[in-house]
Amino acid sequence: MVIKQVMYDCAQFHGGMGYMRESAIERMSRDARILPIGGGATEVMLEEVAKRSYA
Ligand SMILES: Cc1cc2nc3c(=O)[nH]c(=O)nc-3n(C[C@H](O)[C@H](O)[C@H](O)COP(=O)(O)OP(=O)(O)OC[C@H]3O[C@@H](n4cnc5c(N)ncnc54)[C@H](O)[C@@H]3O)c2cc1C
Repeated sequence: MVIKQVMYDCAQFHGGMGYMRESAIERMSRDARILPIGGGATEVMLEEVAKRSYA
């Protein structure tokens, strides 16, 4: 997933500040991580796509 890589790179670019709870980058990195979990985990969504593709 592209956003995970983008946020990883942003945190790396900001160094220690990218890791601090007070920084926007930390919050954005954490928020990006929920995307493949919330609203149905990626694995579960892939299963749904597979089921519906052959129905
Ligand atoms: C911040 C947040 C917001 C949310 N918002 C919503 C919302 O708006 N609407 C809503 O409906 N739900 C929402 N959820 C719930 C979300 O859909 C569930 O967290 C998600 O479906 C994962 O379920 P779970 O946490 O019980 O993890 P589990 O079902 O226990 O899954 C844990 C991990 O096991 C793996 N896994 C699970 N099942 C399979 C499988 N069949 N095959 C392969 N691997 C598998 C996956 O890697 C998964 O990440 C939200 C959750 C969070 C944390």
